[in-house]
Amino acid sequence: MKYLFKNIAYLATFDEMGEMENASLSVEDNRISYIGEETPNGDFDRIIDCSNKIMLPGFVNTHHHLYQSLTRNVKSVQNAKLFDWLVNLYEIWKNLDEEGAYVSAAVASAEMALSGVTTTSDMLYLYPNGKNSLFDEEIRGVAHVGLRFHPTRGSMSMSKKDGGLPPDSVVQSEDEILSEYERVISKYHDRSKYAMVKVALAPCSPFSVTESLMEKTLELAEKRDVLLHTHLAETKDEEDFCLEKFGLRPVDYMERIGWLNPRVWFAHLVHINDMDIEKLRKNDVGVSHCPSSNMRLGSGIAPIVRMKGLRVSLGVDGSASNDTSNMILEIRNALLLQRVKYGASAITPREALNFATVGGAKVLRMNDYIGTLKVGKAADLIMFDLNKIGFAGGLDDPVSAIVMCDAKQVDFSMINGNVIVENEKLTVNDVAQLVETQNRISKKLIRG
Ligand SMILES: [Zn+2]
Repeated sequence: MKYLFKNIAYLATFDEMGEMENASLSVEDNRISYIGEETPNGDFDRIIDCSNKIMLPGFVNTHHHLYQSLTRNVKSVQNAKLFDWLVNLYEIWKNLDEEGAYVSAAVASAEMALSGVTTTSDMLYLYPNGKNSLFDEEIRGVAHVGLRFHPTRGSMSMSKKDGGLPPDSVVQSEDEILSEYERVISKYHDRSKYAMVKVALAPCSPFSVTESLMEKTLELAEKRDVLLHTHLAETKDEEDFCLEKFGLRPVDYMERIGWLNPRVWFAHLVHINDMDIEKLRKNDVGVSHCPSSNMRLGSGIAPIVRMKGLRVSLGVDGSASNDTSNMILEIRNALLLQRVKYGASAITPREALNFATVGGAKVLRMNDYIGTLKVGKAADLIMFDLNKIGFAGGLDDPVSAIVMCDAKQVDFSMINGNVIVENEKLTVNDVAQLVETQNRISKKLIRG
């Protein structure tokens, strides 16, 4: 298919071409073939007039737990901090099955697509009763909506009896985890440019994974050349746990086991100091900042504006601690939360948008083909309708209006050359059915 987007009122490339008014962009198959002020000639299958639209690269979400969209806003943990929240929810999550993994992945993907996400990561770390196929089901669920996907095969190996937090029912043996790592890399990890699915490995956290599994996971990631991901320095409780169990604070523990490494990106990094930041920078470690989750669980404020020279991105985190998969809100919360601590000039709307676009692409090491609008890159792009009520009177600077005003949702989204959202509606036609199934499964999980 050949598309021409013409008369684009405002185009922000987040690349060397900067921002343009009244521009054109064309797409051929799955990639961008032209960007500029002229309207290119040629035969196009579709010409879309964008005179009331602003176009940006699609957003990249680098931390999520899609299955948790089944357990948003659970009443018993509405006001709990991380460790209490987890201990209660493990008991619900241990009944997750294949249908739940598929439907929740599709529902969360649909919600993300409407909020401008074109690429997402995920960490699925829960395989109760050996249900390893949950990973396959979430890949199917995301593909149903059409997002570009970089899932991580999560894992938990340290239950309560070994001094960890999760119950026995949700952890697996190291041998089983390692063989599943191998299986999913071989089956799904696509090394080609424009890949729609890439896989990384993700032991869940210092309080649910043994040191030996952390080391073996690193070894395997080096051997198979894949990325690594985990939660780190999310709460003060975690810091206390690490000091007691390993005699080290979280970043120092990661340093000791070789996890300060360019393959790694960490979610959260709330409780870190300037020395930790320097260690992360020196080792080119990536960051997934999750401000909504950090606020919701009362975890704290990550020192994002102090992380100069680090690859910083945004994550909506699991929907049970957000309780949305809305990337627009995440960008806005990132800006507002930094300003709460560091003042009004600490971060600009464009910097926050940068985390959500090119920042995410760099963290997932996919910036050679996503994250900015550039000829030759993948056709992953979004548009907002500038005529909507949330922007009325706010168009002095249309790019920052997406963050400062109430953008609500995208008008249009294209991923790898496929139209995913048009006229504010998803192009998949079974959204109502997915929502109904999700609610049925959710009710059964929570109420038994
Ligand atoms: Zn998380």
